[in-house]
Amino acid sequence: MGNIFAIKCTNCGYKREFYIGIGMMYSPDRVISDDLETGLLQQLIKSKKTQAFVKNLLHEKAGMMRDDYGHVLYRCNRCGEFYDRFFYHIDYIEGSFEPEFKCPKCKKLLNEFESKEDEIKIALSKYSCPKCGKKSLQKDIESMGCWD
Ligand SMILES: [Zn+2]
Ligand SMILES: [Zn+2]
Repeated sequence: MGNIFAIKCTNCGYKREFYIGIGMMYSPDRVISDDLETGLLQQLIKSKKTQAFVKNLLHEKAGMMRDDYGHVLYRCNRCGEFYDRFFYHIDYIEGSFEPEFKCPKCKKLLNEFESKEDEIKIALSKYSCPKCGKKSLQKDIESMGCWD
């Protein structure tokens, strides 16, 4: 079951909701279906280029996806904006692969944010609000919940 995680700024009213973790339909046999065309992974990977690359790893290079996949919180170091993205790790013959995501605004590589609830809370106090720049970000408890 995935968690809805929300961030708000107590100064300017900035608010964002994120879908973190995995949903009930994200079982390994559905994420990596034998038929890669209809597997959930292909829907979760947005880039056509990455889709083809991952397909090749899984089919031709004995790629195995690690079981810690799921939606993760990322942050842009430049503009400070937060995003949720689908993370996965694939080990294959010659190495391993993890997706990289760019900030839609700055085109800069996003950094993975803390993934554990308690750590997110502590980390939030260290970063400035992307909108007003004040260090007044908080977990928005009212918007918390589960998805799927
Ligand atoms: Zn950015
Ligand atoms: Zn703010």
